[in-house]
Amino acid sequence: MTKPLQVMKFGGTSVGDATCIARSAQIVASAAKGMNVVVVVSAMSGVTNRLIDAAKRSGEGGTEAGKTLIEALRKQHHAALTELVPEIDSRAAIEHKLEEVLAEGKRLYDGTAMLRELTPRTLDVISSLGERLCAPMFAGALSQLGAKSVSIEATQVIVTDSYHGGAEPRAEGTRKKAAETLLPMLNAGETPVVTGFIGATPDGKLTTLGRGGSDYSATILGAALDAHEIIIWTDVEGVLTADPRLVPEARTIPEISYREAAELAYFGAKVLHPKTLRPVLPAGIPVWIRNSFAPEKLGTKITQKGKSIGGGVKALTAIRDVALISLGGPGIVGVPDVIGRTFTTTAELRAEVLLISQSSSQNDICFLVSKPHAHATVDALRKEFAQDLAHEVVDHITVDPNVAIIAVVGENMRGTPGVAGKTFNALGQEKVNLIAIAQGSSETNISFVVDEKSMQAALKVLHSEFKLGQSNGN
Ligand code: ADP
Ligand code: ASP
Ligand code: MG
Repeated sequence: MTKPLQVMKFGGTSVGDATCIARSAQIVASAAKGMNVVVVVSAMSGVTNRLIDAAKRSGEGGTEAGKTLIEALRKQHHAALTELVPEIDSRAAIEHKLEEVLAEGKRLYDGTAMLRELTPRTLDVISSLGERLCAPMFAGALSQLGAKSVSIEATQVIVTDSYHGGAEPRAEGTRKKAAETLLPMLNAGETPVVTGFIGATPDGKLTTLGRGGSDYSATILGAALDAHEIIIWTDVEGVLTADPRLVPEARTIPEISYREAAELAYFGAKVLHPKTLRPVLPAGIPVWIRNSFAPEKLGTKITQKGKSIGGGVKALTAIRDVALISLGGPGIVGVPDVIGRTFTTTAELRAEVLLISQSSSQNDICFLVSKPHAHATVDALRKEFAQDLAHEVVDHITVDPNVAIIAVVGENMRGTPGVAGKTFNALGQEKVNLIAIAQGSSETNISFVVDEKSMQAALKVLHSEFKLGQSNGN
């Protein structure tokens, strides 16, 4: 390859209907004149949620949900395709592909309803249908604009482990497959359009990378192909100082470091899947977040170093889909293995622990996991500590699902005294009650737990306290 390579990912809203797909395809067609482009697409917005809802109904034995959805998806995708590719002849091959995917979906829903069982592996295949319907349409739209293009399913490119619902990529296998499948296409002057969100095990079983995983697909492929840069096209102008739905004054951050962006993603900034930046760290490939609805805007550049600012705090984020689990009792003081047993239990469930707080005497440990993991975690802890509960060494294992984590993020907070003071003072003035607090030694974030109801007020007061709505050069 002589020309530089860009990987461009388009999220659900950027491919939400024919107009959006045409606008996104135009962005690719312009870029493809000067460089090699690999496109990664999500499902049309809302489709993955609908696929999963219908899968759950089928798992309970419902026969209608799957049927109705497949019909609705057929209508939706055919309408978009007809608008994007008006000539019947040019459309035929794409229509054939869509019909194959829809027929597979129908068989999966029927089989699930008949067995009344939805396995994680089946759920992955059902969840993949949206991307697999979208990629051929996007390639068709590109061809209409004169850019030679082919769609390809990421099961042929991204190699993962077999953890259904949140598979991990295997870098070496993926690099080899990407070279075998995508490079010949690029060398032939074609723009590959790859399905985001999915991959396959070495023996070919389809997996998904977790919800919102198409961002991760883009960086996995960018790293595997030694891309020059990766552009994640979405519906906002980059990484903002806070979620604009919660803090309307939030502003685009022109440049941010991998570490800061990763902290934001980890603590719930939906604009990036939490694992997005992992693959690009070793090679330092820049990642841009840009708005496909306003491509003239530059968006945010995510780089190794970012750009430092005086004030320290760069952005705020919050996660509300979490639950606080606490375990304790006066009897556990001096029992040395409580912490070890607690987190071995969460690790066995693959329940990611988002924040931990412990008072010095060890008589109460609290930690946060995502809500879907909460019940299983508490059940497993009750089993693990059954003896201790019986002997009242441990007197409670409780769960509170009505909480949110807020994180204050910025690399320059390290060495900027007073950030914590300012944070807690502002929250105090706003009468926001703090349930738990944590700050890691990296000092790139301070995170704390509040009642879910106070979350938005807390974000707003901190956004104004740290003057994040004003242009201060960050
Ligand atoms: P896509 O479908 O393109 O992947 P997502 O909906 O997954 O887009 O992510 C984009 C959304 O993330 C934005 O519309 C915005 O509401 C939300 N968001 C949350 N926090 C932030 C933030 N700090 N910066 C930008 N967007 C954010
Ligand atoms: N379509 C998938 C989802 O909704 C992946 C993505 O959009 O990134 O989770
Ligand atoms: Mg997303």
